[in-house]
Amino acid sequence: MDMSSLGRLKEEVGWHGISGLFSTEATLWMLGYYLFSLVLQTILPGQEVQGVELASGGRLDYKFNAFPSALIVLGAAGIGTMLQGADFALWTFIWDNYVRLITANLGVAFAVATFVYVRSYQVQKGNQDKRELSLGGHTGNIIYDWFMGRELNPRVNLPLFGSIDVKIFCELRPGLLGWLLLDLAFIAHQYKAYGKITDSIVFITLFQGLYVIDALYYETSILSTIDVITDGFGFMLAFGDVVWLPFTYSLQTRYLAVYPLDMGIPGTAGCIAVVGFGYWIFRSANNEKARFRENPKDPRIAHLKYIQTKTGSKLLTSGWWGTARHINYLGDWIMGWSYCLPTGIAGYYIERSQLAAATNFDPDVVQGKAKGWGMIFTYFYILYFAILLIHRERRDDEKCARKYGKDWEEYKKQRIAQEIEVVEDE
Ligand code: NDP
Repeated sequence: MDMSSLGRLKEEVGWHGISGLFSTEATLWMLGYYLFSLVLQTILPGQEVQGVELASGGRLDYKFNAFPSALIVLGAAGIGTMLQGADFALWTFIWDNYVRLITANLGVAFAVATFVYVRSYQVQKGNQDKRELSLGGHTGNIIYDWFMGRELNPRVNLPLFGSIDVKIFCELRPGLLGWLLLDLAFIAHQYKAYGKITDSIVFITLFQGLYVIDALYYETSILSTIDVITDGFGFMLAFGDVVWLPFTYSLQTRYLAVYPLDMGIPGTAGCIAVVGFGYWIFRSANNEKARFRENPKDPRIAHLKYIQTKTGSKLLTSGWWGTARHINYLGDWIMGWSYCLPTGIAGYYIERSQLAAATNFDPDVVQGKAKGWGMIFTYFYILYFAILLIHRERRDDEKCARKYGKDWEEYKKQRIAQEIEVVEDE
């Protein structure tokens, strides 16, 4: 390849050299964001809760305030936007440093995963500090254990900040809120580029925002999730929390920031119906189990049937959890459709001659032959999420079979029996 065609290739793929991938400034601002989150976690009052019983006995103490922390960050971003509009420095910084921010977060995930891996060798059997290894994360294969997470709930004592639960911090704070901030930055960019904000990008941001705020509002329910109870904290979770989730889940709004599609009233109504249906299943199934686990006499769930297992724990056999195993996953997946549908039949291209102008917000992007191909990116979420949830269901089934033995078989049989009854009644 001669130099001129190499130059052309660089221009076409938007390669600006290593500085396009990494910058010290972007990395430092990113670390500042983490630090700010740590400060908020420390100084804001929070809900003091105990985790579930550990295999080695005892419960860990937690302080939850990711929700008020997020409100402070969003409030500050709101004030900045009121004062500076779409030119607010946070939004332009995110847009201009998108790839550099991915690199910075990748670095954080790598460093944190390596740190907790090395530190996991301090964990002793029957540890007094309530530290334990994860079931699947200490095979002896360094790469595998580093990836899966050797320690179950690593905690670190930081000067001024005290004890920080690394897994809960990563799961609830930088990435989850970062996802919403990315969406908002993309709205600002669309406005700067086109002088308008489309219903599609607002819709996705609203509902992804609802998902994020919901997760933060019900933050204590994380204590009964597989992530906290079963999975070790390694590169997989660290990467998932701070890189994968914010940067891939916001691909649709990033797409719409450049290709502003209007859905109109019928499109919006259809998407609202999808998301409403999904949320109803997702939230009521999750609430039902959380209430049951907290207090089985709670009047809202006291009428539900259950089986008492030999472990002392009870399993619901009616209500949502008697209808299907992990029906909460189904609701979650249905909601996921509403993040993709507003991008329509996606795909656009920017002609080479327009490339330079386009980076200066030239609105002239066309679908042409690219129509449809963009769906690989904008509908990727729904495919990926289905695979994730199916895989998760299988892992949870194995976990429950191991934990509950014959009682789990009984629960599955009771469900099948109920299904047969329903069919016979019909
Ligand atoms: P669940 O909240 O479904 O929890 C599974 C656990 O619930 C089981 O291990 C078991 O734990 C308990 N359980 C199972 N059946 C019953 C029953 N019949 N009665 C009472 N308890 C039961 O799973 P997750 O932790 O995976 O998910 C939590 C939420 O997070 C879900 O809504 C999911 O959709 C969402 N999620 C979102 C992701 C995303 O990327 N957006 C990724 C993963 C999850 P026990 O030992 O206590 O009995």
